[in-house]
Amino acid sequence: MDAKDSRPANDVPAGNAAAAGDAAAAGDAARSVDFIRTIIDEDLRTGKHTRVATRFPPEPNGYLHIGHAKSICLNFGVAEEYGGTCNLRFDDTNPTKEDVEYVDSIIADVRWLGFSWDDRLYYASDYFEKLYDYAVELIRQGKAYVDSLTPEEIREHRGTLTEAGRESPYRNRSIEENLDLFRRMRAGEFEDGTHVLRAKIDMASPNINMRDPAIYRIRRVAHHRTGDAWCIYPLYDYTHCLSDAIEGITHSLCTLEFEDHRPLYDWVLDQLPVPCHPRQIEFARLNLTHTVMSKRKLLRLVQEGHVQGWDDPRMPTLAGLRRRGYPPAAIRTFCSRIGVAKRDSVVDIAQLEHDVREHLNATAPRVMAVVDPLKVVIENYPEGKVAEVEAVNNPEDPGAGTRRVPFSRVLYIEREDFREDPPKKFYRLAPGREVRLRYATLITCTGVVKDEKTGEVLELRCRYDPESPGGSPADGRKVKATLHWVSAAHAVPAEVRLYAHLFAAPFPEEDGRDFKDVLNPDSLKVVRGVMLEPSLSAARPGEAYQFERQGYFCVDPDSAPGALVFNRTVTLRDTWAKIEQAGKADG
Ligand code: ATP
Ligand code: MG
Repeated sequence: MDAKDSRPANDVPAGNAAAAGDAAAAGDAARSVDFIRTIIDEDLRTGKHTRVATRFPPEPNGYLHIGHAKSICLNFGVAEEYGGTCNLRFDDTNPTKEDVEYVDSIIADVRWLGFSWDDRLYYASDYFEKLYDYAVELIRQGKAYVDSLTPEEIREHRGTLTEAGRESPYRNRSIEENLDLFRRMRAGEFEDGTHVLRAKIDMASPNINMRDPAIYRIRRVAHHRTGDAWCIYPLYDYTHCLSDAIEGITHSLCTLEFEDHRPLYDWVLDQLPVPCHPRQIEFARLNLTHTVMSKRKLLRLVQEGHVQGWDDPRMPTLAGLRRRGYPPAAIRTFCSRIGVAKRDSVVDIAQLEHDVREHLNATAPRVMAVVDPLKVVIENYPEGKVAEVEAVNNPEDPGAGTRRVPFSRVLYIEREDFREDPPKKFYRLAPGREVRLRYATLITCTGVVKDEKTGEVLELRCRYDPESPGGSPADGRKVKATLHWVSAAHAVPAEVRLYAHLFAAPFPEEDGRDFKDVLNPDSLKVVRGVMLEPSLSAARPGEAYQFERQGYFCVDPDSAPGALVFNRTVTLRDTWAKIEQAGKADG
């Protein structure tokens, strides 16, 4: 084994989108008993454990993404359900890729998701001294040795899936020599890559992870927490199980790619006088359509400038989703609905959007905003007169009350709500046609003012029916369409950022293609001069609204007083509901 970090690659082949996970059907109300909770139930029943202790162990080499949310909700969720504890632990053993920026963002993101670790914030780097002592203990027992082959030679000796590995000529160094060399590795006497400490297990094992894996390597780089104190760093597999044991973890939940590493996890703990032997249990990682997930790929999106940063609202990072306006509660609901299973699958991103919509529908105040304004002059409405109409803040929440919206002679409506030549089934505004203005009145289009040269419609002339207060005509006549609008004199202009999937293809890496080739060129559309009703003038970053008939939007941190910026969180149309409906019809 060479001195590369031995974390397994976690790329999964692009599969077919599966419906919600195995444990999903029950919904969030009923406690879903997945295979992990079944194991824990059994451990508590038999008295193997009397308490439950889990941990969420991110490596601070990037921002957390929605896949991590699944692990966070599982680890913290299980601890909460059983009255146990969940630690936040940074697995910070690879100083070349790690950074405090990532540590800080991870802390903020887990907290934002709604979980607390109280005072149990740990770092694997805090255990470096203990881990060193344990390594010395392994050497003393004759179960670890310093290998001086080059990384290339170590690779050659490793063998393949079908062919056993070969033992290093340094494998049978004496314990004294190993102790001396390891001490000198720590003291900084050797260059990077000249020696590694390896566990002495079995070069013929069918499991390559057991063929004398490297457990320490020389890396003469500063660490973001321990500075220059160390020039040797423990490898992931060795560190992880020992950190779990030091913290008294009972159930160490991780993703499926670690399954083949479990024998090594257990081997290390079996050799050493550790306080306990946690049980590693693997579950399937979350994959989403139209998304790439691993931090390495997300870093590439940032570095190559395909997005504007880790918190770009098109990113599946928690920072991106937060900025996009996804409520943490919606992400928790999503994670509970997809459940945990042992089989890899890909979840349709429409399901996540559905859960976001469901939460925002219940909580976001409704407002009127005209994204593509077309001027309307109501000829029979007095100049200078301003009326205030009463608008409902959230029909889903009577407690949210009402607000007053100014109405006057000159308004904006959505350009797409008018057609000079309306096609069949277009019931909105057209010459001679009557429509309702939401909460206000009925208007009829009496004229169209156009640019003589281009033919572009510049403004509509209309007349209103004074006998239709709130849009209910005195004679009860039927009007098919209700349009949103904003009074021109009172409108607050804003910038709106309309987002679509970052990747046009559902499986960006299908057939081994580079995800760069399927980036959606229309994933961001910036619209300026959007006209908002004046109640939004004081809107603050993070606040969520439904722009009636348009979608859910939230205020972006780029906003400044007088220069509001909104992100479209999600449209109103629910493709997931349709998918589910179709599924029921089929089934
Ligand atoms: P990435 O693939 O993004 O680099 P990672 O597994 O290398 O992820 P870690 O920081 O080591 O990232 O992950 C912390 C925890 O989150 C681990 O227990 C890991 O198994 C879990 N995790 C990472 N990605 C997912 C995912 N897509 N679904 C579920 N759990 C995940
Ligand atoms: Mg990784």
